[in-house]
Amino acid sequence: MHPFDYVAATSIAEVNSILAQHGNRARPLVGGTDLLVQLRGGRFDLDAVVDIKGVPEANVLELNGALKMGSAVPLAVMYEDQAVRDAYPGLIDCAELIGGIQIQSRASMAANLCNSTPSGDTICPMIVHSAQVNITGANGDRTVAVEDFCTGPGRNVLEDGEWVLDIVFPAPASGFGAAYERFIPRNEMDIAVAGAASSVTLDGSGKITDALVALASVGPTPVFVTAITDLLVGKEPTEENFVAAGKIAYDAVSPISDMRGTIEQRRHLSGVLTRRTLTKATERAKAG
Ligand SMILES: Cc1cc2nc3c(=O)[nH]c(=O)nc-3n(C[C@H](O)[C@H](O)[C@H](O)COP(=O)(O)OP(=O)(O)OC[C@H]3O[C@@H](n4cnc5c(N)ncnc54)[C@H](O)[C@@H]3O)c2cc1C
Repeated sequence: MHPFDYVAATSIAEVNSILAQHGNRARPLVGGTDLLVQLRGGRFDLDAVVDIKGVPEANVLELNGALKMGSAVPLAVMYEDQAVRDAYPGLIDCAELIGGIQIQSRASMAANLCNSTPSGDTICPMIVHSAQVNITGANGDRTVAVEDFCTGPGRNVLEDGEWVLDIVFPAPASGFGAAYERFIPRNEMDIAVAGAASSVTLDGSGKITDALVALASVGPTPVFVTAITDLLVGKEPTEENFVAAGKIAYDAVSPISDMRGTIEQRRHLSGVLTRRTLTKATERAKAG
């Protein structure tokens, strides 16, 4: 492994300075559960790794209507917060199934996003919560919707010198519910063969006013299926409509066959998991 400097940054300015100095030869580190594995495996070399866990703004977990989650907040800190659990059960679904307790105690949701694999379990749930990513760097700040963040397997919109400071989730509207499920061949410690996140918003009469579905591990990036929104808005949350949504999901994905599953299996799972998560999201929406 190529030797690299380890910098435990304590301010945004310090992170910006290290990243600006090294360009694409430096990267932020949170839990290191992807980065250190990749460095050891020789996927790429770095001259510097900037640990952002000591940056106060990256450790914010603030629920004040909307939820602001710093990019270094460990998954376990998020899901052990009872107020966050109550408000965002669809996010808890994914946080609790990543790796095991050791991974969840170190790794963050933002880092899962920045790793940008199509199988990243937190990305689709963030999309269906309409989350916004706050990006910073020596050249300024910008905000990007999660669905626009990933550009290919392991690639994203971050330019050299940029990093994610935090992610903001809008306050759940009344009648909102969300859910995430994935299929893996064993109970834990594997990456998704396919995954689906859904959110549903119901009006006072029980009709759907919004429905968002995003699918994991079935394309080069997470697949946000806006045709399902077009299908479901204004309709009743019935089994029949959710089966129709599943058929759209089946056609919308572009999976590959690999050692974990075939194209046909992944298409089939996309349909099934879409229907299931829409149903669970609706139950949660009704329960308030
Ligand atoms: C045993 C094991 C099981 C796992 N199980 C799962 C699983 O079930 N589901 C799943 O999705 N993943 C899984 N993973 C992968 C990994 O744990 C997750 O992707 C995790 O969320 C990464 O978080 P981290 O904080 O460890 O990231 P790190 O390794 O610290 O960073 C990951 C990448 O993001 C970059 N990065 C981190 N923070 C920022 C930032 N703020 N701004 C810009 N770039 C940043 C880093 O430079 C690096 O390229 C597993 C890994 C292991 C080792």
